[in-house]
Amino acid sequence: MIIDVARQIALKNYRGSFSFEYDCPEELVLLPSARIQGKVQVEGEYEIYADDSVGILLRLGYLLCGQCSYCLEPAKKQVEYECEVLFLPEDDGENYSYNGFKLDLTTAVNDAVLFSQPQVLLCRDDCKGIDYNKE
Ligand SMILES: [Zn+2]
Repeated sequence: MIIDVARQIALKNYRGSFSFEYDCPEELVLLPSARIQGKVQVEGEYEIYADDSVGILLRLGYLLCGQCSYCLEPAKKQVEYECEVLFLPEDDGENYSYNGFKLDLTTAVNDAVLFSQPQVLLCRDDCKGIDYNKE
């Protein structure tokens, strides 16, 4: 997931959009027994500023599948997430950085996958969990 910033500057394309399909590493899924089905859809918009920093609006969508956290029945949830990130040509310890030429979105997308995950995966919004009183 590379944006060729130097090339876009040469072409005077200071704004643009992108979309990728991403095979997310399994270890990024935090909930036990859950996984991302298929690929993560990544799209967004970038703007290259005069100081070569790049502001990015990132949107993710993916289908999280696994066991309901309450009742252990199969569950799935379509996760949609949006965030804004800033890439700087020098590392300031706070934002993302890139080498001034090509910008690799992978770390920012991986972080967004982590931040976007729900704490629980439920079979339905009002799942009451396993009913131990049921015969
Ligand atoms: Zn449930």
